[in-house]
Amino acid sequence: MARYTGPSCRLCRRERLKLFLKGERCYSEKCAVDRREYPPGQHGQSRKRYSDYDVQLREKQKVKRIYGVMEQQFRGYFEEANRQKGITGENLLLILERRLDNMVYRMGFASSRNEARQLIRHNHFEVNGKRVNIPSYLMRAGDVIELKEKSRKIAKVQESLEGSSRRGVPRWLEVDKDNLKGKVVALPAREELTMPINEQIIVEFYSK
Ligand code: SF4
Repeated sequence: MARYTGPSCRLCRRERLKLFLKGERCYSEKCAVDRREYPPGQHGQSRKRYSDYDVQLREKQKVKRIYGVMEQQFRGYFEEANRQKGITGENLLLILERRLDNMVYRMGFASSRNEARQLIRHNHFEVNGKRVNIPSYLMRAGDVIELKEKSRKIAKVQESLEGSSRRGVPRWLEVDKDNLKGKVVALPAREELTMPINEQIIVEFYSK
């Protein structure tokens, strides 16, 4: 699966928003958005009028970047969300939230979704007792994520768990830090996803 390998902070600056892509650095004074609150590049500081299309495009790019998903996969998620019953935008966010890399990050076992992807690909996690090394694996309510026995001493995981108290664990997840496991108690309701996302604009973007 293709993935973005350029500088993460540039993505945040482009969206003019902290996307929390670099773990602890995002909470420090080194955060590039806090230091330079304008888009990167030669025209970053020039004033620009945004068309409806620009606004829709930026919203889509922002969400893709938050969850670390490339265009083709994101479009696939949109189509799946559109096929499901209910509100397409909310369905889309729920699919993204159900990704294993997102859950590992939310539970505090990784300091960013990117780090979570790396740990998952390196076979450090089991879901319901079985090895899963696919970051896009979609979790369901009741599923249990557990760090494998041999992976329990990984320094990155321990550091991340220490730092996770700052982020907090969402109400729909349960984490047992001593036994390095977490449970998806329920799937989140839209109002529990507090990131500044207007998913309706993304629906408009794809519905043209
Ligand atoms: Fe974004 Fe984190 Fe870089 Fe700040 S430090 S610009 S939040 S990736």
